[in-house]
Amino acid sequence: MTMLRSSESTIDRNPKTNTGEDASTALERICQQRHPHLQSQDPELYSLIIAQARHETDTLKMIPSENYASFAVLEATGSILTNKYCEGYPAARYYEGNEFMDQIEQLAIDRLKALFGAEHANVQPYSGSPANQAVTRALAPPGSKIMGMPVPAGGHLTHGWKVNFSGMDYQTVHYGPRPDTGLLDYDQIRDIARRERPRMIWVGATAYPRTLDYAAFAEIAQEVEAYLVADIAHINGLIVGGVHPNPVPHCDVVSSTCHKMLRGPRAGFILSRIEDRWQRKYFPDSNLNLAKRIDRAVFPGLQGGPHMHVIAAMAVAFKEAATPAFRDYARQVVANARRLAEKLLEKGYRLVSGGTDTHLLVMDFRDAPYSGKDVAQALAKAGIIANFNMVPGDPRKPFITSGVRLGTPALTTRGMKEPEMDRIAGWIDTVCRNLEQIEEVAPRVRAEIAELCRQFPPPGILI
Ligand SMILES: *Cc1c(COP(=O)(O)O)cnc(C)c1O
Repeated sequence: MTMLRSSESTIDRNPKTNTGEDASTALERICQQRHPHLQSQDPELYSLIIAQARHETDTLKMIPSENYASFAVLEATGSILTNKYCEGYPAARYYEGNEFMDQIEQLAIDRLKALFGAEHANVQPYSGSPANQAVTRALAPPGSKIMGMPVPAGGHLTHGWKVNFSGMDYQTVHYGPRPDTGLLDYDQIRDIARRERPRMIWVGATAYPRTLDYAAFAEIAQEVEAYLVADIAHINGLIVGGVHPNPVPHCDVVSSTCHKMLRGPRAGFILSRIEDRWQRKYFPDSNLNLAKRIDRAVFPGLQGGPHMHVIAAMAVAFKEAATPAFRDYARQVVANARRLAEKLLEKGYRLVSGGTDTHLLVMDFRDAPYSGKDVAQALAKAGIIANFNMVPGDPRKPFITSGVRLGTPALTTRGMKEPEMDRIAGWIDTVCRNLEQIEEVAPRVRAEIAELCRQFPPPGILI
């Protein structure tokens, strides 16, 4: 298979010196070089992949949980490691022939621990949700009380939402941002925790645009003798890049995806302390420490054989994330989100919490005659791919909503900066002002966006 290094970029980032082929032709050629077997053996599937690649190349990916993984991450994910079984953990496998697999998993574990300063790491969870399931199982038997944010308030399904195992098998207690400010109120959270005495508390969200105060949560958890678990699936890259506090020193356990801002393969991981500070209270009869209980909850508690091709790709992503370039990336992600927020506020739009400290912002259309869904669908027609989202105190239903969530991680990976955010704010404004005439207006906006996209080819697809 032909490998393309970034130095062999086919498309020059600078449009003034770009004399090469157009993006569409380049994409076709690169995909043929990368997937020649797929192209000849399964043209039907191949053409669907190309169609998706083209879509992700000439539109603005503003779903804050999406990104572009590097060629190196994609190559590891597509490697022969998919063929090997190695149930168990390094040096303790249930299958023979795992000398190299042990080294691969250990590399991923060591790099991950270094990245976050964690005592223990498990890299086997298949994704973020299974990681959270394993954490819950390791800390709380079914029927016990867990506390988290409900989905409409920005929490995740796995934090105790009713249609998920966590809401079905556990008693759940909810907290969330205040409808008037869009902010978490730590006194209110403390009151709920004191009243309810949960066994574990989740801190983490999918749509909260502000910095989380892990120290405040840690105080609350200490007072009510609860496990504190941070779910950093959305903000993993902000933490690694040093633009959001690291929860590891404050929490018993930290769970995450490896994709989203971290730009790894689709996978999950769990960090924890080794010793359990609540062992005597909650597990007096167990001779396993916290790290061992987490490992057992993942395998054999929940999963079978680890996906070693994915774990190899995780190791690659952790290496990439440990570079100064990744810190610059994280800083720019936040700078871009702030700039976009500023420009939208200038144009008179309302934002949940009045702005952002992170990679995302949520437009608040509670006062508007149109819904979040109306705007998200119109934006998609114009080439801005985002999603509608509940806002705190939302009067509309979950499938309609009064919010649109916008994120900058993928655009920043493409190299976009403040001037591009200014143009994007302008396009969002044009779309919102022309919802009634969107069919006439969208094609013009879409053409302008496609032109911008050609100047910023996505790594992992085109460069
Ligand atoms: C994305 C996300 C998850 C789940 O990850 P999947 O890989 O989609 O299962 C869990 N928690 C939070 C806060 C997330 O944003």
